[in-house]
Amino acid sequence: MQTKYVFVTGGVTSSLGKGIVCASLGRLLENRGLRVTIQKFDPYINVDPGTMNPYEHGEVYVTDDGAETDLDLGHYERFLGVATTQANNVTTGRVYLEVIKKERSGAYLGKTVQVVPHIIDEIKHWMLQLGETGDYDVVITEIGGTVGDIEGQPYLEAIRQLRYELGSRNTLNIHLTLLPYLEAAGEVKSKPSQHSVKTLLSFGLQPDVLVCRTDRPMTEDVRRKLALFCNVDQRAVIASQDAESIYEVPLLMKEQGLDEIAVERLHMKEDFEGKVLDAPDMDGWVRFLRQLKEPQGKVRIALVGKYVEHQDAYKSIAESFILAGAANGVQVELAQILSDDLTAANVEEKLADVNGVLVAPGFGDRGVEGKIEAVRFARENDIPFFGICLGMQCSVIEFARNVCGWKSANSTEFDPVTEHPVIDLMEEQKKISTKGGTMRLGAYTCQLTKGSRVAEIYGREKVKERHRHRYELNNVLRYKLAEHGMQFTGVNPKRDLVEIVELPEKRWYVGVQFHPEYRSTVGNPHPLFASFVRACVTYAEEKDNILMPKGPRREKKIHLASAKM
Ligand code: GLN
Repeated sequence: MQTKYVFVTGGVTSSLGKGIVCASLGRLLENRGLRVTIQKFDPYINVDPGTMNPYEHGEVYVTDDGAETDLDLGHYERFLGVATTQANNVTTGRVYLEVIKKERSGAYLGKTVQVVPHIIDEIKHWMLQLGETGDYDVVITEIGGTVGDIEGQPYLEAIRQLRYELGSRNTLNIHLTLLPYLEAAGEVKSKPSQHSVKTLLSFGLQPDVLVCRTDRPMTEDVRRKLALFCNVDQRAVIASQDAESIYEVPLLMKEQGLDEIAVERLHMKEDFEGKVLDAPDMDGWVRFLRQLKEPQGKVRIALVGKYVEHQDAYKSIAESFILAGAANGVQVELAQILSDDLTAANVEEKLADVNGVLVAPGFGDRGVEGKIEAVRFARENDIPFFGICLGMQCSVIEFARNVCGWKSANSTEFDPVTEHPVIDLMEEQKKISTKGGTMRLGAYTCQLTKGSRVAEIYGREKVKERHRHRYELNNVLRYKLAEHGMQFTGVNPKRDLVEIVELPEKRWYVGVQFHPEYRSTVGNPHPLFASFVRACVTYAEEKDNILMPKGPRREKKIHLASAKM
């Protein structure tokens, strides 16, 4: 069966929410009964974003197979509930690396290796790869950047060729643009969108659908104008109006028939006979949105990290809290605490009104002492505590210093000659000197201790979680830490690496070496996040500082009446 390919490009500016539109369309098609995956092509030369710092790129999202990828893949997984892999994120760097490797191995012997055809062919190969597995009916391909960028041109040429080869029955072009409102003119301007489509046309690509980001409803007049000047059906000019939550976007897209247009244009009803529902079943999504928008209360949780000023640096953690909050009927307000600023003298004041403390992952020593102070404050005051990766490592350091009394305890990442290296480089990491893709990456099994809090939370004794680190809890000191009351309730069975630490006498104190935040999806928040938020709610109720008292539901407008679903 021929897979259908949807290509999504953007114009005018970046940050229009292309990833969310792709994820929304993906979910709508999935809920019509189709098997969907989404892939992203990033036109930069890094082989993957793993070597970029979060200020540069936002969060690095890690897949089960250990790929370090763009954070949009997190949106794809959260919206679709389907795992992605390395094949779902390709960069110009990876494309060139493959081509150059082939050239060195003699694959093109005798030929001059060029952008056209070799680089374009390699891009096309990656664009088709997921479809060729036979696992998907629809592959949505998002192209990073904006049309007209020099580095994006090979991708547009690859799409042009694929449209030519596969035909309009099997390919669809969606182009995202911005409709700015000019205060002085009192008007929404369509000209930037027209120019963007012109640029796209100059690469031989005519969009079938225009999705226009706007801060106000699109008038019929603007719709008509865009349709006429951009050569697009009027009903295929779709407004992507700013929404309170990204999780409203699938319903906004459905309301305007984006999925219907895709189904029609790609002849999916005929080609996938009997498989495609007349409308997506979004009941579950609407229920989730209702929970999200009608919280019964609000809890404040501190997110302690060194990248808190960058809104995308802890994307999956922030989204996991939104999803876990909805599941618990509360809104989680994240108090972003810059760890560099935390000291023993001010920690009490900075964390005064929070109902829980999460210490974030990270690399390098900036802000580590502040994180350790945050752990101490949470432990000593029995505030629910959750440590992720470096956050877990900080909890072990704090425990070693302040409970075991090993004042100089540290990770060798920060103090290579510490007397008490409670966190140390993993054996296999000692031989590695290159940085790209060389950490302990991807999903590994974790065996949970029977009867432990985490085993109860998961409701299982064996789980798989994703990793991204070089250091680990030092097994030489592990038994000494245990003598002082720290429990190791999750361990990698093959290599005896500690994956989870707990202080069971605390109301909720869990540190994990892995990244649970990568596995939260809509309707299925990660159990550790759901349980942590529940503990924060209970704590807030005990302290009587839940921010919105329980009471009659406040009606909040949901963008789409559920009756229409
Ligand atoms: N820097 C630590 C390590 O490499 C923690 C990594 C992380 O938090 N992702 O082990």
